[in-house]
Amino acid sequence: TQLLDNKVCIITGGAGPRGIGKATARLFHQHGATVVIADLDEEKSREAAAEIAAERTMGVACDVTDKASCETAVKAVMERYGRVDVLINNAGITQPLKTLEISPENYEQVTDVSLRGMLYMSQSVLPHMAEQRGGAIVNTSSVSAQRGGGIFGGPHYSAAKAGMLGLAKAMAREYGQYNIRINSVTPGLIQTDITGGKLTDEMKTQILTGIPLNRLGDAQDVAKGFLFLASDLSSYTTGAVLDINGGMHMY
Ligand code: NAD
Repeated sequence: TQLLDNKVCIITGGAGPRGIGKATARLFHQHGATVVIADLDEEKSREAAAEIAAERTMGVACDVTDKASCETAVKAVMERYGRVDVLINNAGITQPLKTLEISPENYEQVTDVSLRGMLYMSQSVLPHMAEQRGGAIVNTSSVSAQRGGGIFGGPHYSAAKAGMLGLAKAMAREYGQYNIRINSVTPGLIQTDITGGKLTDEMKTQILTGIPLNRLGDAQDVAKGFLFLASDLSSYTTGAVLDINGGMHMY
């Protein structure tokens, strides 16, 4: 099946070797998409793209916290492919801090990448999508937004990820008239490098007791949710939140 034939898809934070973004780019490519990996380091973005395939891939440098950088990246995509059909706002960082430990700098680091970055990247693609009269934006929030953290990231991470859900819904309301759908996924604990080796086996065992499907998630589990929300399979879905958490949080 080619669910994303001829679709140009930008994936931020897609260079992480075991990351959700890279797995998503790979799956999208398998479904016919042209994929653009937009991550901090240009070389790493290009390498990640080349690793997926030589054709229909591109790597660009993009710091999502910097508006000019977002605009430059999207401009490069427009120059090369002439359109943007899908944006996956996936760049994110986390820090395992408690409330009183969060410094002003910590707050900015974490909220800037997830929340400000989502706004800037969306602002950079929306005019093009509106002109095309169609597009899909999907955002990587987190179960931490819904259950108040308690997995790995601190309260500032929960706040950033919860903010993303509000921003997505408000933009979905505004852009529905242009046939642009904006949805979010809320992954549970996914085995990637984001925890920087700070997630111990003991913590994992403890967390597993609260997961009905009795395993941690992998990047592929989330990529499949993105495929649904980025493609026509979800043609009448906007402003929605898709839980991908093994049943860790139900409501
Ligand atoms: P990852 O570390 O592999 O991916 C994050 C990527 O974001 C990295 O490649 C990093 O270079 C990039 N990035 C950081 N700052 C950036 C910036 N300013 N501009 C552009 N790119 C930047 O980890 P991952 O787990 O795949 O994370 C992807 C997303 O999933 C993040 O938003 C994360 O918060 C979210 N998430 C992860 C989990 C989990 O358990 N792993 C759970 C819920 C949500």
